[in-house]
Amino acid sequence: MPGPVSPISPGSGPDRSADGGTWGERADALVSAMEARGVDDARGKVRWLVSSLLGRSSLSAADAARAARPSPGQAARFAKAAARLLRHEPVQHVVGETEFFGLPFAVSPAVLIPRPETELLVETAAEWLRERGGKNLRVLDVGTGSGCIAVTLAKLFPACEVAALDISPAALEVAERNACRHGAAIRFLESDLFSAVHEERFDLIASNPPYVPRAECETLSPTVRDFEPRGALDGGEDGLAVVSRLAAEAPGRLRLPGALVLEIGDGQAESVSRCLQRLQPPPKVTARCDYAGIPRIVRAVFPAADSVSPVFPEPASPARASGRGAGHRGCWCS
Ligand code: GLN
Repeated sequence: MPGPVSPISPGSGPDRSADGGTWGERADALVSAMEARGVDDARGKVRWLVSSLLGRSSLSAADAARAARPSPGQAARFAKAAARLLRHEPVQHVVGETEFFGLPFAVSPAVLIPRPETELLVETAAEWLRERGGKNLRVLDVGTGSGCIAVTLAKLFPACEVAALDISPAALEVAERNACRHGAAIRFLESDLFSAVHEERFDLIASNPPYVPRAECETLSPTVRDFEPRGALDGGEDGLAVVSRLAAEAPGRLRLPGALVLEIGDGQAESVSRCLQRLQPPPKVTARCDYAGIPRIVRAVFPAADSVSPVFPEPASPARASGRGAGHRGCWCS
């Protein structure tokens, strides 16, 4: 029965590129089918897919090609990819990569897909490294995943030494591939948090640890819940299991004055800063909000032993700032 153009013609059987329509027709049919299945941002994902199949990194390539017809090979790849998008697979898995800090990063189901929020973590870490002269400093990325933090910092600070840890060998493979692709010299170690690091001390420890409270993992969109590694998301009962372990161990792993920069979840700024302020030597803790106004990045600077102040003030009431949509002015961003 003739019907709308099927975006999921399987790519087997007769070549449908001639009767399957233009790029624009195929894209529109796929967007409608995805929307009917509740896949979010369907249009954005399909633009991304089409641009990628055209071998272009600019999304506008998809718009420019609307009236053209795909080749048989492109049509077959589109049909396969369409079936994956309809199953809620992340478009980054389908096209195999994403962009972070202006660089392409390979991703796979073994790693968390780099998010724009994490670029703020890199910026915060970079600010600290610049304050410290930007050279001959040791940087450690804990739970590196795709390697996006370590690779970006290594590219920004070629005169610093960057090491990266992950508990997952499959994640380390992806991270190493990304480091190689970008010519970043990074030491990778398989490690449960700091377990593989012995005597070495670092000037900066950066981490985007799993921080989603366990019960919330089930409520995440299927694209995240069913396709991204649970180990990179699940932060235990309250979301802070890994964050607290990291915080407790960080001072002993830093060369003072040293900084710990962490990405955290919505509503966690207050408890994380309290936890950090109980450490020795007491750090100066500041937070930075993401684009949605949520305090997302926490920086703790641990002073050198001879500059420890005897007074440790509480942070300026972060509680009011921790709600979603609090807006930048309401944020605790000192
Ligand atoms: N930002 C991710 C999400 O909410 C979580 C990342 C993490 O746990 N580090 O989907």
